[in-house]
Amino acid sequence: MAPGATDEDIAGVVSRVEGVGGEAFVSKGVTRTIIGLVGDIDSFHHLNLRTLPGVADVHRISDPYKLVSRQHHPERSTVWVGPPGHRVPIGPETFTFIAGPCAVETAAQTLESAHMARAAGATLLRGGAFKPRTSPYAFQGLGLRGLEILVETREETGLPIVTEVVDARDVPLVAEHADMLQIGTRNMANFGLLQAVGEAGKPVLLKRGMTATVEEWLMAAEYIAQRGNLDVVLCERGIRTFEPATRNTLDLSAVPIVQATSHLPVIVDPSHAAGRKDLVVPLARAGIAVGADGVIVDVHPDPESALCDGPQALVGSDLRELAAAVRKIPPLLGRVDAGDRVRAT
Ligand code: PEP
Ligand code: MN
Repeated sequence: MAPGATDEDIAGVVSRVEGVGGEAFVSKGVTRTIIGLVGDIDSFHHLNLRTLPGVADVHRISDPYKLVSRQHHPERSTVWVGPPGHRVPIGPETFTFIAGPCAVETAAQTLESAHMARAAGATLLRGGAFKPRTSPYAFQGLGLRGLEILVETREETGLPIVTEVVDARDVPLVAEHADMLQIGTRNMANFGLLQAVGEAGKPVLLKRGMTATVEEWLMAAEYIAQRGNLDVVLCERGIRTFEPATRNTLDLSAVPIVQATSHLPVIVDPSHAAGRKDLVVPLARAGIAVGADGVIVDVHPDPESALCDGPQALVGSDLRELAAAVRKIPPLLGRVDAGDRVRAT
């Protein structure tokens, strides 16, 4: 309450709060009175408390998200990705390595990328059939043909597929083909799309918006969860800062922050963060060390000819170096390889 708030002002707030079924605890100091509210936050919103006489400010202490919060779900969650018979975990006990081309370009390039990913120890294949490009003139992806190539590649390699959906109208089609639906950074706040993937019956990989706060990111996850889908994995992929040396700044502190506030798994994408292949392995190592539940990286058999994001794609010795880090570091943190925990149901 403001320093000059009267007893009448205080009683006014208390009676309003009690009127919607809440409790109000009044704590009188020498110059200030603080009123603590307990009850249903939504009903408090309707009271417009800030506008009442004597009120100086209103602070929310509880999380604005409910379903994805750890407050009511203290155990961290594991999300299982893949068809029955081959479900790959992403969660606190395991480490999940996801790799693949930025974009599906041809059947041969996708298959070769998948073989590279699998040989490096990846248990899930990434690859975009619908690409959210900054420029309308850039390669937009193969669409349905790209999804078919991913399905053929899964049949050949056994790797479940993670692929992006950019338009709510495409959700049923993408969900029919993919094992996990990716929401990209540019669509994190596309609430209609979030609701659509919430109803799609497939796990979701939700990238952090490049200008989103952690709270906004978790509220985006809440949109998906609120439609009945709690199989959401968060992905830190770098945020926009003033630094032009990297494509984005990988916000590693977001990983333990999110893990402390939400039960959802969190992985790191060092490829889209850095935009440069020489930084991908060091950043991936840092992501593992900070406690991420997995990493997702771009690989390409011939980065120079890639139609999308070639400069950040790993191949050859860089990929082998990453594979070594993924084998060696997670066990030091008590994690087992997700491939060792694949389950049938
Ligand atoms: C991608 O993973 O291919 C992609 C477009 O990522 P982001 O949305 O993080 O830029
Ligand atoms: Mn990309």
